Amino acid sequence: MSEARSLSCDVAIAGGGPVGAALALALHAAGVDVVLLEARDAGNSTQSPHSPPVLRPLALSHGSRLIFERLDVWEALTSLTPIERIHVSQRGRFGRAVLSAAQARVPALGYVTDYWSLVVALDAAVRNSGLEVVRGARVTSIAHDETSARLEFSTSAGIGDCVASLVAVADGNAAPTDVGVRTTDYGQSAITAVVETDAPHGNTAFERFTPEGPLALLPFGSAYALVWTVHSDLAGDLAGIAPEAFLARLQERFGERVRFTEVDSRAAQHLTLRVAERVDSGRAVRIGNAAQALHPVAGQGFNLGLRDAWELAIEVERRGPADPMLPPAYAARRRIDRGGGIAFTDALIRIFSNDFGPLAIARGAGLALLDNLPPAKDFVARRMIFGSRG
Ligand SMILES: Cc1cc2nc3c(=O)[nH]c(=O)nc-3n(C[C@H](O)[C@H](O)[C@H](O)COP(=O)(O)OP(=O)(O)OC[C@H]3O[C@@H](n4cnc5c(N)ncnc54)[C@H](O)[C@@H]3O)c2cc1C
Repeated sequence: MSEARSLSCDVAIAGGGPVGAALALALHAAGVDVVLLEARDAGNSTQSPHSPPVLRPLALSHGSRLIFERLDVWEALTSLTPIERIHVSQRGRFGRAVLSAAQARVPALGYVTDYWSLVVALDAAVRNSGLEVVRGARVTSIAHDETSARLEFSTSAGIGDCVASLVAVADGNAAPTDVGVRTTDYGQSAITAVVETDAPHGNTAFERFTPEGPLALLPFGSAYALVWTVHSDLAGDLAGIAPEAFLARLQERFGERVRFTEVDSRAAQHLTLRVAERVDSGRAVRIGNAAQALHPVAGQGFNLGLRDAWELAIEVERRGPADPMLPPAYAARRRIDRGGGIAFTDALIRIFSNDFGPLAIARGAGLALLDNLPPAKDFVARRMIFGSRG
């Protein structure tokens, strides 16, 4: 059971989801005095801020693997399925591109897991590291002066506070702060599910663009994890209809390249793009979904958030947590990668989610060109693996 306390530290982290936990581990390993405040209760790894907990397949990039290896948690991530090939196409139109791990000179283009497996592994790593963590602590306010910030948090034992030289907001955009957030509603929802097929996946992922939105099939154990973007007004129906009817609709939407046989763990999640107007404010910085929550197309959100955490840890180590220039320096350091990730996913949705004939032809030509131009393919693969530094 948590108890309400007065704490002080170099860096306080509001939110211990995968991004906040990764930052805490990186800072702790660098000898920084850190306190992690997480709203989920102790011992309850399945109490989601997006309750009830739903399947959320995550494709971790090779770049994320390198960060997790440096944090010493890669070995603890047990349920990972490598992606060796990604087949990109548009339904009913010409043009396709295949990206491969061999061409990108990496062991795998990505590794598929699910959100809650990742959370459980990171919670265990945080516990084993001995860093200070308060669970069941919901941050309710952040106040700043020139040199420090003070967070208030509520727990079942009452109100606590924490004074820190720097606050990292990693709450997935739930806590009140003084920074505005721009929201774009795509009118789309993601249907997530585990689907079985009549043939092994051979570690190939599919990203299929349709006028209604992208449909991703990710190798997931011996099955596929499905992330199917649909108009939001169809989502409830698709999440609830009989499995046979669902499989028929999915088959019709995906085409015949694979044959679907079973579906499990279906859920629907509304999708928006949320972008904080700035990532630094006073003695606070925002990372992960608290800075930008992207559309899941191309599996960029967590990978970008993990790079936020990693690059912030480097900046804290280099400058010291009390450096007055640390928040703006962090914001400047993340500007290109962050802007690139937001623009890339937003452009994919806008360019591919329509049936406008000339645009469909241009898209097809673009995919065909990509498939036949090794340097372009290399560029796209490395962009997806390493972000703007690829
Ligand atoms: C359908 C779907 C598929 C996706 N697929 C991919 C993918 O393939 N690859 C990829 O890279 N990304 C993917 N994403 C995005 C990815 O899930 C997010 O980017 C990632 O979870 C963000 O992690 P986070 O730690 O920043 O935020 P969150 O996961 O939201 O964690 C925030 C944490 O803060 C805690 N919290 C909230 N409020 C407070 C408070 N006031 N005080 C204290 N703690 C608080 C919460 O309990 C939670 O633990 C996908 C998203 C969706 C919806």
